[in-house]
Amino acid sequence: MKIPINLKAGSVDKEEKKDVIIGIDLGTTNSLVAYADGEETFVIRDTSGSNALVPSILHFGKDGVVVGDIAREKLISAPERTIYSVKRLMGKSYQDLSSLKDSVGYNVIDQDAEALVKVEIDGKYYTPIELSAEILKELKYRVEKHLKATVSKAVITVPAYFNDAQRQATRDAGKLAGLEVLRIVNEPTAASLAYGIGLSKDEEQTIVVYDLGGGTFDISILQIQNGIFEVLATHGDTQLGGDDFDKVIIDYWLSKSDISADGLNNNKSLGQEYRTEAEHAKKAISTIGSYKTSIANKELHIDAETFASLSYDLIAKTINACKLAMKDAKLSNEDIDQIVLVGGSTRMPIIKSAVSDYFGQSINDSLDPDEVVAIGAAIQADILAGNRKDLLLIDITPLSMGIETVGGLMDVIISRNSKVPTRAGRQYTTSVDGQKNLKIAVYQGERDLVEHNRKLGEFNLTDIPPMPAGIPKIEIKFILDADGILTVKATELRSNVETQMEIRSAYGISEEDMARMLIDSLQNAESDMQTKGLLESINEANNILLAAQRFIEQNKDALTIEQISKINLLKEDLLATTQGDSKDVIEASMQAMNLYTAPLAHEALDRNIGKALKETKM
Ligand code: AMP
Repeated sequence: MKIPINLKAGSVDKEEKKDVIIGIDLGTTNSLVAYADGEETFVIRDTSGSNALVPSILHFGKDGVVVGDIAREKLISAPERTIYSVKRLMGKSYQDLSSLKDSVGYNVIDQDAEALVKVEIDGKYYTPIELSAEILKELKYRVEKHLKATVSKAVITVPAYFNDAQRQATRDAGKLAGLEVLRIVNEPTAASLAYGIGLSKDEEQTIVVYDLGGGTFDISILQIQNGIFEVLATHGDTQLGGDDFDKVIIDYWLSKSDISADGLNNNKSLGQEYRTEAEHAKKAISTIGSYKTSIANKELHIDAETFASLSYDLIAKTINACKLAMKDAKLSNEDIDQIVLVGGSTRMPIIKSAVSDYFGQSINDSLDPDEVVAIGAAIQADILAGNRKDLLLIDITPLSMGIETVGGLMDVIISRNSKVPTRAGRQYTTSVDGQKNLKIAVYQGERDLVEHNRKLGEFNLTDIPPMPAGIPKIEIKFILDADGILTVKATELRSNVETQMEIRSAYGISEEDMARMLIDSLQNAESDMQTKGLLESINEANNILLAAQRFIEQNKDALTIEQISKINLLKEDLLATTQGDSKDVIEASMQAMNLYTAPLAHEALDRNIGKALKETKM
């Protein structure tokens, strides 16, 4: 039994506090974590309080794995050990990834074309599940640090189009990170919840969720009735996002310079500078309408009008996907009650107006588009924690599921856009006299021939009593649960011989592997914590070094030569400690720097205030 003691009041609390269940938006580019307390929702931010996004990037250094901004800094210097876009690898086989594997800087392994891919780093192999688990561990760590309590339960969001293997992989990653995943929720459903849509039992609404992130685009149409969410249709493009808008700016600037696209590809640092400046330009256009810069002594400029005409095709692609989704859902624009925007790229005014113009109505953009999905996940978590009135979320399966029949044909059992949870079955028979076994191969996809669809797994119904061909009655049942996870059952009805399979056996991660990985991660937990502490100190030291340099530059007229050289000496000392592996030594050196520079900084502040006062008097 647990006895809750209120340390401040020195009393025993009457009511035991409910567990906090966290909501996680596990994104391709960035991830976020949030929680709710029955009323308010809180997004976990960094120590500066401004940034909630944790880049979904991992770096394998000599001392262990780091996640987030620290890892992002290594993208250029150590691309083969810095992993990004793991979400694109989830639940995928090597065959699925023919285009992606050449475009990333790390090594995607082809162990067996049918099996899940792995990533090779320094001769070790990691599944996308293990890699995603590292991101989830970082999010768990952040929220635990904030709450000063452990958390063990989560709701994780996935794109509505994620198939069964991808959902299962996400669930497994949560488990590996030490989280019991109570629900896998579709991202558009979470976004609607964030806007409070569907929280009242009587409302009936049809919602469009337009999600344009850094690298992917999705459009979903949801119908909410009596507190039940149903995804009517989804469409999208997994290779379209904010990066493409940066690219049109780069191409435009290249056309104004004498550098070719190949020339830029061959010069990594120049390429990076162009990418960074193009993204700055895009964001500046969103707020101030134009942008000027210079790269390699070349003056570059772009205004909102030029950007709008360059982006026309990209935006048209997204609007076309909206049209297709509306057609799938058999709806017209008048049927749409609300439009919700998700993803950083929807901050672009040209996107807001294109979407609003197409649907002929205003849009919901009052929440931070980067945070809506995490906020919605936290609200769903809160509902599951029993803090809100019961709401049921119903989703759809975006791809048909069926089995292989004679001639390699796909026989669909649960069709695309069916509501989940659902179950469906069909009867089959044998084609040979005395046939004892029947192979059942399960596929997902829309093509008529199974070879063009995705295989989810296969199993055998054995021990069918000998009967003439055509006599056995074999029922195949598909049971799809609320998370979109499939169980297939085969029963010979005359004899009651039965076999069943959960898709995880073919494409998920086995319980033994899971146990091994958990033991590994527990064994390494202490050294992981130490590494993390050291890396945090190095990061802080680097910030102090930068600040000290800036301080010298800004105050060089007021500082004496002795003061400048003393600061430079302290800088050298601090820089040297960051090469070592002692957190304590780095911290002592940072303290020495602070001790010496704090009074100087105060003097500088007084001087600046004095100067400002004088100027206002004049
Ligand atoms: P997400 O994956 O949702 O975090 O989306 C990140 C994308 O949003 C990146 O491509 C950013 O460049 C883009 N983005 C963020 N802020 C803005 C802005 N103010 N204007 C245009 N694009 C933005």
